Amino acid sequence: MEAAVSGVAVNAAPTGETNPFEAMMQRFDHAAELLSLDEGIYRILRHPEKQIVTSIPVAMDNGEIEVFTGYRVLYNTSRGPAKGGIRFDMGVTLDEVTALAAWMTWKCAVVDIPFGGAKGGVICEPFRMSTAELERLTRRYTASILEVLGPESDVPAPDVNTNEQVMAWIMDTYSMHKRHTVTAVVTGKPVAMGGSLGRLEATGRGVKIVVKEALREMGMPLNGTRIAVQGFGNVGSVAARLLEAEGMTVVAISDKTGGIYNPNGIYVSEALEYIRHNRFLEGFTGGDAITNEDLLEIDCDVLAPCALENVITRRNAGNIRAKIIAEGANGPTTAFADAILEEKGVFVVPDILANAGGVTVSYFEWVQNREGYYWREDTVNERLREVMIRAFDQVLQYSKAHNVNMRTAAYMLSIDRVAAVHKLRGIYA
Ligand code: NAD
Repeated sequence: MEAAVSGVAVNAAPTGETNPFEAMMQRFDHAAELLSLDEGIYRILRHPEKQIVTSIPVAMDNGEIEVFTGYRVLYNTSRGPAKGGIRFDMGVTLDEVTALAAWMTWKCAVVDIPFGGAKGGVICEPFRMSTAELERLTRRYTASILEVLGPESDVPAPDVNTNEQVMAWIMDTYSMHKRHTVTAVVTGKPVAMGGSLGRLEATGRGVKIVVKEALREMGMPLNGTRIAVQGFGNVGSVAARLLEAEGMTVVAISDKTGGIYNPNGIYVSEALEYIRHNRFLEGFTGGDAITNEDLLEIDCDVLAPCALENVITRRNAGNIRAKIIAEGANGPTTAFADAILEEKGVFVVPDILANAGGVTVSYFEWVQNREGYYWREDTVNERLREVMIRAFDQVLQYSKAHNVNMRTAAYMLSIDRVAAVHKLRGIYA
């Protein structure tokens, strides 16, 4: 958790509320129980399919050899190749990578794309490493997980502190071993080498789509409806910009340096221009300075947490005034907070649905690579809209039919889909 500048640290979930694997499993268990999931399938789905732990020796620029620890977890591949990002961070643990890999399994299933779930990570401090060191680390990590990688088996993507350059190195390393260019082995690549148009904006665009659907469901208008967005990075800034363009009033935004509040509306384009020059929102004069903690409790209609996990907890859930929460970030709400929000009647679009736009366009990138035929950006966006609206509607109908909230419905629907494939495939003995 970041230091006090963020204001989020103050809000951090009480100990015991945040173990990532347990938090995910709590939701999984609840959904499995409601589904009366077959005991055998339950046992299968509670375990990752494969966990790789690897030591990665890297010759550093100063001539010394450092050995990093890397992970790649394939949680479930029953519905198709494993899909999930790779993060470079000091906080990476096997527990967290496993939880995120499970998350990816449910996320791909909820939007019904033919992928399983995976995640990877390397314990390192990327900002203290040179580009050359990062490249060597990436290539050696790729070589050490080569046996699982491949367009048909495991397809990584960028995650925390990795980017399209890292994906380019992974694709190149894999291709060198295969002796031919294999673009479909990673997604989130530069467009010049097979990346998809629209991928960079896809997650924020997906958040926009589900916010519109949620407003429709709640009988609320778009025009003038107030939204607060935590996190002004790839997801949050795109969602804010697109929803402002649709007529919503963006009353609060924030980044790690704190937030800005303006009940009359913040000009998102001005904020974007400001961070282009100043990197962070600190000092932006488009409203009053607030903390990230204040932002979550601000007077607004829609709240989009698009920064960190575990920010909505039992400590602050009771104070949230928004009627709709669209989880752009992964895991922003703890299981304890879920119960409080449900009691208050807040309509929560859960992370595995709300931020699935990114993985959906990753799927489109993989399809385009395999077709060798590239789509126009408006085609990508239109197909993304179709997938997100269909998934939103299916989760909504499921939640109504089973009288459960949207999160439980999303888990039930996705677990049901994965379980159905396991039943059809049977157990290879
Ligand atoms: P990003 O790095 O582009 O942006 C993160 C934003 O959060 C930045 O504005 C940063 O300043 C802010 N932030 C960092 N620490 C903070 C703190 N302590 N308090 C408040 N704000 C803080 O990241 P992103 O790609 O926008 O991802 C944001 C979230 O969305 C993450 O949870 C990520 O896992 C999730 N997500 C991203 C994608 C994607 O395609 N980028 C897809 C699915 C889920």
